[in-house]
Amino acid sequence: MVAKTPLVPPKPRGRTEADAPQPGLASERLRQAMVERLQRQGIADAEVLQAMARVPRHVFVDAALASRAYEDTALPIGHRQTISQPFVVARSLAVVRDLYAGSAPMDRVLEVGTGCGYQAAVMAQLFPWVASIERIEALHQQARRNLAPLALGRLHLIFGDGLQGLPKYGPYSAIVLAAGLAQVPQVLLDQLIPGGVLVAPVGASSQTLVAMRRRPEGQAGPEWVPFAYDEVSFVPMLAGVVR
Ligand code: SAH
Repeated sequence: MVAKTPLVPPKPRGRTEADAPQPGLASERLRQAMVERLQRQGIADAEVLQAMARVPRHVFVDAALASRAYEDTALPIGHRQTISQPFVVARSLAVVRDLYAGSAPMDRVLEVGTGCGYQAAVMAQLFPWVASIERIEALHQQARRNLAPLALGRLHLIFGDGLQGLPKYGPYSAIVLAAGLAQVPQVLLDQLIPGGVLVAPVGASSQTLVAMRRRPEGQAGPEWVPFAYDEVSFVPMLAGVVR
């Protein structure tokens, strides 16, 4: 079960709110306002909203941008990559939970594209076991540093190319792609359990948030059923690693 207390790093990190009279309170208020906005934008899943309320997004962005951390926008995190927009994180995870039709509760979940680690931290509030893979080593390390104070034992960060998924730890209840691609690779779909769900931004210039659900066990019908959601804008999924 998800506890109600926010996940605030144990020590003030200087670059966040160390100068505020009551460190933590300002960001908590902004985060609460963000959650209320998400509700107005149509996110109804209470557990997703609670997870979004717990993860301090400001610790995942540079000090110069921390004041904008709770705006509903993607922000640069270096290496020409971005932290995902809160609405898109919330939507992707709500879609996964809504469509999932496995015979057991959700278990292992994979994120491709850790970036700064924000969505991975939200996922670790919702799922019992999360792996997140990142192809840029410097970002993988940055995510490690950002996430260390949150001490999320369910979260496993991996450096590597996730375009082929991560069969070593699969199959997964869900796979969330945090970078855009023209088409969902079959090799990723094959790493879902029956009833499992993959969410990805699909399209070349403009993208649509798309979900694919694998046929639940014992049911008739097609092996894969697609669902389409919002228009979104993600950085592209690329092959190979950057050291
Ligand atoms: N999940 C992040 C957003 C990351 S942006 C958040 O919560 O804010 C997308 C990330 O996907 C980038 O860091 C990019 O380097 C990474 N990426 C792109 N192609 C990849 C691949 N093939 N394997 C792993 N990571 C990839």
